[in-house]
Amino acid sequence: MKLQFFYRKFNVLTCRQASQMVSQSLDRELGPIERWRLYVHLRLCQACRNFGNQMAFLRKAARKHPLFSDHDD
Ligand SMILES: [Zn+2]
Repeated sequence: MKLQFFYRKFNVLTCRQASQMVSQSLDRELGPIERWRLYVHLRLCQACRNFGNQMAFLRKAARKHPLFSDHDD
């Protein structure tokens, strides 16, 4: 079975959608369906898991760094 076909059939996010959702999830709360679809994709896709870890790491690092911090507290 082709991966593209599998993704469509089971309504799995594409890597592009998943990476967008990962970025969005850092800025806003995802809905339960979005979270589920992202979860399924991340279970299937090592590349996006890595991307998600990097994003979370960068975001955490940036928060601590005054240069990249959004708020001036
Ligand atoms: Zn992916």
